[in-house]
Amino acid sequence: MDKELFLHNAKLFTPGPTPIPLSVKAAPLFSDIYHRSDEYYSLHQSCQKMLAPFFGTKQLPLILTCSGTGAMEAAVVHCTSVSDPVLVLKIGKFGERFEKIASKYGCDVSTLTASPGDTITPNQLSARLEELGQKVRAVFLQASETSTGALNPVKELTSMIRKCTPKAFIVVDAVSALCAHEIPMDEWGVDVMISGSQKGFGAPPGLAFIALSERALEFKSGRPRFYFDLNKEQSEQLQGRTAWTPAIFAMQSLAASLTELSRIGPANIAKHHERMATAVRSAMTELGLTLFVKENFSRALTSAIVPPHLDASRVLRIARERYGCVISGGQDDLKGKIFRFAHLGMTSVLDIIQGLAGFELALYESGFKHAQLGNGVAAAMRSLSGSIDSKA
Ligand SMILES: *Cc1c(COP(=O)(O)O)cnc(C)c1O
Repeated sequence: MDKELFLHNAKLFTPGPTPIPLSVKAAPLFSDIYHRSDEYYSLHQSCQKMLAPFFGTKQLPLILTCSGTGAMEAAVVHCTSVSDPVLVLKIGKFGERFEKIASKYGCDVSTLTASPGDTITPNQLSARLEELGQKVRAVFLQASETSTGALNPVKELTSMIRKCTPKAFIVVDAVSALCAHEIPMDEWGVDVMISGSQKGFGAPPGLAFIALSERALEFKSGRPRFYFDLNKEQSEQLQGRTAWTPAIFAMQSLAASLTELSRIGPANIAKHHERMATAVRSAMTELGLTLFVKENFSRALTSAIVPPHLDASRVLRIARERYGCVISGGQDDLKGKIFRFAHLGMTSVLDIIQGLAGFELALYESGFKHAQLGNGVAAAMRSLSGSIDSKA
């Protein structure tokens, strides 16, 4: 397969890592910082302060050196003890991950499962909580389920948990949700919320963020812990110190990305993601593809069903190798069955047009001739231009 000329950089339309602007990538090149210095403490604290509005919390989110899964594990270790009954809402692969972690740590795990692409309703949740009773120690759920592109109704689910089992900790994996969605954790009563550097925040992989409510901060589960000791991290990070050597380069990049994101503000950034998601959905539909999620769309990514007789891996390979557009497919059971086109992080509307054009060409060249070339791109452009405030 011939590659097109002058494609110097592949563009990521993947739900993490997301594209990293040059200014963010280059930030660590200009200074070497010692992590036991005032310079580092102030860098760390300014990142925590800039993260807080994205979590909607008055607490300072902790920054851990690990990927998002490390923070998921830290949450399980912090909130539970061996044999504690916990409930995991499972709407995809990342829900399964909470189930696996909690099981490894000896929790008595119950699940509430939705079929892929669907989400959990508050009524399903209240019925399940009723069965389990007041002994439930914690409920784990995803906001945006990255394996399907569905978004749980976090506000409604959280308020149902607070009503049915007020003592249970509510742990929300918002790794791919933050920036794309506003999830004000204090206002909604979330106890633990998790995110990561390489998703909405447009920074390099390697950092996870975890914010805890007052009651979660006060809690001590009695489990043995060492690297992920959130009580220890909390007392250190209040002074900008980390328990262990942080990923200093990634922190310098994060500071650069958060500076830009903070200037724009969480509300405007969420709105930008809504515009991109709406445009991509209209492009997919116009191309004759069926959306995999029917309602409750994540603004981080859009998934579409692979039409019969089309080889999804071929489409994705052409998009990547010939047009430099890296788009994801399904994972595990959904491999070959869905496309996942992400519009997360510091992605511009023209990036989206470019990605859709590459995707359309790849569909066409793989034998999907259902729609006229350019129809998807045109639908996205109409959607984008229609969503501009006419007063602007
Ligand atoms: C990416 C992601 C994670 C964390 O994955 P890592 O590869 O460990 O960073 C967790 N949950 C969701 C919903 C994600 O999208």
